[in-house]
Amino acid sequence: MVKFNIALDGPAGAGKSTVARLVAKELGFVYVDTGSMYRAVTWKIIQLGLRTDDTPAIVTAAQNLKLELKPGDNGQQVFVDGVDVTSLIRSAEINANVSQVSQIPEIRQRLTDIQKNLATGKGIVMDGRDIGTKVLPDAEVKVFLTASARRRAERRYKEAPDSAMTLDELEADITRRDRMDAERELSPLRKAEDAVRLDTTELALDEVVQAVLQLCRTKVNGGK
Ligand code: C5P
Repeated sequence: MVKFNIALDGPAGAGKSTVARLVAKELGFVYVDTGSMYRAVTWKIIQLGLRTDDTPAIVTAAQNLKLELKPGDNGQQVFVDGVDVTSLIRSAEINANVSQVSQIPEIRQRLTDIQKNLATGKGIVMDGRDIGTKVLPDAEVKVFLTASARRRAERRYKEAPDSAMTLDELEADITRRDRMDAERELSPLRKAEDAVRLDTTELALDEVVQAVLQLCRTKVNGGK
């Protein structure tokens, strides 16, 4: 089977991780969630009681931490220094701090190197913000997923209806994170010129997955 790489970028809550996981399953590829890596570093920083603006301390902590990604039944599992943080990194506290941590050049460099390395053998579906532009500029298939901020908030709300946040608060949180990710100087959230934009506001999950698989067939004959 011909292996290739798929870069899936887009703003928070556009459905990247669910789509990436299902596409990877369909093709027998490995799914890599790069947002979870930035979240894992942020988790460690909070655990250590560091302030998110204490860049030198954060860089040292990030250099020393051991980050492991393992494919699990429900997607990718994340371990920091041997601790399974898979569900811990989805908290509101991490959401509130991760975009600040992900702006630090040394952190981006370290995680980008790991991500590039993971993709050298091909057969990877990688999602994030800068995969098509910076991490895997040569990916054979590049998709930029979008949806209205309201629709993205609604999806998040459905995933965790008992979250402490109202729908309006979730929308505001998503919009704030989009702005920080899009406006940062280094590797901002941006559609690669050669990426295909897919607006999922009115699409069901299966329609998005099928659209990405169709794109793979067009671009690289679907790995067959
Ligand atoms: O994808 P997810 O929402 O889990 O990503 C969490 C945060 O990690 C993003 O808001 C962004 O600040 C950062 N991130 C990034 N580059 C990536 C993936 C995520 O800066 N490739």
